[in-house]
Amino acid sequence: MRTGLGYDIHPLAPGRPLRLGGTEIPSPVGPLGHSDGDALLHAICDALLGAAALGDIGEHFPDTDPAWRGADSARLLAETLHKVAAAGLRPVNLDATIIAQQPRLASHKAAIRQRVAGLLGLDHARVSIKAKSNNGLDAVGQGRAIAAVAIVLLEEA
Ligand code: MG
Repeated sequence: MRTGLGYDIHPLAPGRPLRLGGTEIPSPVGPLGHSDGDALLHAICDALLGAAALGDIGEHFPDTDPAWRGADSARLLAETLHKVAAAGLRPVNLDATIIAQQPRLASHKAAIRQRVAGLLGLDHARVSIKAKSNNGLDAVGQGRAIAAVAIVLLEEA
């Protein structure tokens, strides 16, 4: 069994689509990023790579590579899972927290959980998606950024 931790943060700007965990979220603001800026999927990719000791998302999917410009981050996660599988490992469970002052995510957590479980090939009972605000503190708390933290457990496949 091996654990891995991932973290990501993106600045937010008006009029950008917001995608979290491969799920479209209605929002007046969305992330600036090279790909679709899905902070949750990026944190999950880094957690998977970390647990497998395979480096980080920036090494595998450099933001200088035009192939990933505007990319659906579900593709990054699928590629990451291939690399993890090639290392003889597979996910057991995931726990994640999204940190955002806006939009409110309580009503979207169930959909995000279902989608992430599907992307990971896990039963939703093994996937936990939590959401919290930053209590008004720093750029996240002022609604100018969105962040996510994820931890995964891998087992030998
Ligand atoms: Mg990112």
